[in-house]
Amino acid sequence: MKKVIVVITTKIETYKNFINGMWQESDSNNTFFSINPANIEDIVGIFQASNEQDVNSAILAAKEAFQMWSNTPPSKRAAILNKAASFLEQNAASFAEELTREEGKHINDAKNEVIRSAQTLRFYAIEGQSFTGETFPNDDPNMKVSTEREPLGVVSVITPWNFPLSIPARKIAPALITGNTVVFKPSSDTPLMGVRLVEALHHAGIPNGVINLVTGRASEVGDLLVTHSAIRAVTFTGSTEAGEDIHRKAAITTRTQMELGGKNPLLVMADADLDLAATLAVNGGFSLTGQACTGTSRVIVLKEIKELFVQKLIEKTKTLKIGNGFKEGVKIGPLANEKQLKNVLKYIEIGKEDGARLVYGGEPLTTDDYKTGYYVQPAIFTNVKPQHRIAKEEIFGPVIAVLEADTYEEAILIANDVEYGLSASIVTNSLKTAHQFTKDIQAGTVKVNRTTTGNLMNAPFGGLKKSSTSTFRESGRVGLEFFTQLKTVYIGY
Ligand code: NAD
Repeated sequence: MKKVIVVITTKIETYKNFINGMWQESDSNNTFFSINPANIEDIVGIFQASNEQDVNSAILAAKEAFQMWSNTPPSKRAAILNKAASFLEQNAASFAEELTREEGKHINDAKNEVIRSAQTLRFYAIEGQSFTGETFPNDDPNMKVSTEREPLGVVSVITPWNFPLSIPARKIAPALITGNTVVFKPSSDTPLMGVRLVEALHHAGIPNGVINLVTGRASEVGDLLVTHSAIRAVTFTGSTEAGEDIHRKAAITTRTQMELGGKNPLLVMADADLDLAATLAVNGGFSLTGQACTGTSRVIVLKEIKELFVQKLIEKTKTLKIGNGFKEGVKIGPLANEKQLKNVLKYIEIGKEDGARLVYGGEPLTTDDYKTGYYVQPAIFTNVKPQHRIAKEEIFGPVIAVLEADTYEEAILIANDVEYGLSASIVTNSLKTAHQFTKDIQAGTVKVNRTTTGNLMNAPFGGLKKSSTSTFRESGRVGLEFFTQLKTVYIGY
């Protein structure tokens, strides 16, 4: 595998933790690098390898700030979110460049992510101010019964690298607007974006202790972020494996919200527009280099149109330009880290060994412009059987498994025969089939004639089965629910 040969020509910046309103070095005296996956000789920054002492300090600061912040008028909390949003917008160009350098996605996708993160802060600044309880009619004319919503307390926010700014924004904004205080640990692959979001809030005047940032490895700080007695809630996005671990460790008094893996199917019916179907498969499966939790990883196509569909899928895939996210026209960037590259190549081998047919791509790219990055060709497998591992397990890379079905009913059985249920889509011109699909499919996000990827910030987002804890949705107005607890109040007068 590739080795990092560091040629330091310019000074590499060192970034600190943010605890109780101050940028601080870790108690561990250790640091780690964030590396550009398109060019592993490019070190994006040096970050604090935090230890439990840092996490303890951050949780204590958040605990002490809670009383003050939960009593801060909602309009003031909203003003801080709006100001932080402006900071992100003003710095959108440079933050997008850093995002591409740190994560690898194309610069246009990175710009969209920065802007969307700002919009998310603004969305919750408004929604959070009118998020209330209910009143309940009752038979006593001299009694009012209502629910009140209260913040939970200190919330741990633990996030992955694939949307390093927008996922933290959609967790931190609803947490803060409802009066909670936060300890935030971004992915160690993309800590700079975590720093930038916290900088935005700091610049906006957030009081000391309300938002705290600790960077570092899950093996060092993950447990305490979940099990510390002051932690009232953990909102986590990442792998199902880590999510299950966190869910098991959390105390009964700690609420958890887990957004986890997916194995998202796109069903292609015989009446489908096949050009549309191939475009949706390519965009859903290969955009962001297949590293979207809602990415299309299975296409289940009716037998009678399979040959034609696969031909169109290959033709469209051939046109995708692979390369550095700063280059014009690039559609597929590098994988985000070496582990990702190894994992994708491992699954390509597993697919072949299990008897699926690799009909396109799947080769690592190691020459010329590709030699310093984690690049792989997008891969298309046909003859995939439902029991094959590439049909069952999350790969989280640019690999599409094409499965055949004789009927819609069989396609649904195959689609539901996995332990995940995040997102699913069908391509059809039949209104009847479309409606039937929304009932039959086991997924938290269901689409018709659209990609499995993408979700609105004002609509609920989350999965079924092992894709989520299936308790509290993220995004939209319901995204606020997780961060508040209900009190039912009976007032006789
Ligand atoms: P990951 O689970 O390895 O790590 C996610 C975060 O959790 C990181 O900050 C990591 O340091 C931390 N972490 C890992 N194990 C932990 C533990 N035991 N205790 C506490 N913290 C722990 O995931 P990743 O590789 O960063 O991201 C890819 C995964 O994220 C994929 O499985 C993808 O499907 C999933 N994902 C899901 C969604 C969604 O909304 N459902 C969105 C994006 C990504």
